[in-house]
Amino acid sequence: MKPKIWFNGKLVDWKDCNIHITSYSLHYGAAAFEGIRFYETAKGIALFRLKDHIKRLVKSSEILGMYSRYNENDLVNAAKLTVKSSGMNSGYLRPIVFYGESELYVHAKDSPVNAAMIVLPWKKYLKNNAVKVMSSSYMRLHPKSVPMEAKISGYYANSLFAIIEARKNGFDEALLADYKGNAAEGPAENFFIVKNNVLMTPPLGNILPGVTRDSIIALAKDNKIRVQEKNFRLEDAKKADEAFFTGTGAEITPIIQIDKEKIGNGKIGYLTKKLTSLFRDVVSGKNKKYDKWLEYV
Ligand code: PMP
Repeated sequence: MKPKIWFNGKLVDWKDCNIHITSYSLHYGAAAFEGIRFYETAKGIALFRLKDHIKRLVKSSEILGMYSRYNENDLVNAAKLTVKSSGMNSGYLRPIVFYGESELYVHAKDSPVNAAMIVLPWKKYLKNNAVKVMSSSYMRLHPKSVPMEAKISGYYANSLFAIIEARKNGFDEALLADYKGNAAEGPAENFFIVKNNVLMTPPLGNILPGVTRDSIIALAKDNKIRVQEKNFRLEDAKKADEAFFTGTGAEITPIIQIDKEKIGNGKIGYLTKKLTSLFRDVVSGKNKKYDKWLEYV
């Protein structure tokens, strides 16, 4: 049986959770959403960095001028309730705040603000253990066109263009540059490279401030791995020793090829493996220091 969906304060059967065709967010791409994984641990089921995700959700919706009747605390409790009621031990939670039924004016002010939480059984986001990526001909969104710190559904049209192009060309995923031509991020992932044992990732500004990105930076620093948040070109990335994506869906996904160039020796790199193992321990509750990142249902 499909899990119940939390919709405006109530758990609703999957098949009954429907919205009106005039919903503003469907027409204009203006919804705020999150992706949050939950994992099985010795102490029970835990949502990874739930409060940080909910903070970003509320911030994204307020940036859109969309004020939900549910505050951060309500949404945290709703997330836990939805996961608990699903009966699943691990999976993916999708909270979304969106404008409902409308008269289709672009100003949106005739629309009610809705909130929902959906649970899905997600294993892997990218189907391969290690991926080949195409540097996209599409540019990542310009920070003067949209606030890049927000996670807004409409932004994903840019992601989808890049994915369609990459798949058409035989790649697993795309890699986008920012408006200055620096490496930015994947369609749904942040991007890291390793060069001479230094971990490098584009600074905040032209990318989504990923929760997984932040977690990997913290874990790397903790383990005496040098980290630099700085700009580099896609051409530099192709000469890296290692490369990987991070994201709630992608977790840590090694990149073994960019365009025609093999990364390192074309196999999963040493630091990528090490960080993956550190991350696994954290999400499965085996690292006491980072128990603070686990929100038990
Ligand atoms: N960049 C983009 C464009 C994304 O959609 C995502 C997925 N939310 C990420 C980066 C990674 O963010 P997080 O680690 O918070 O999931």
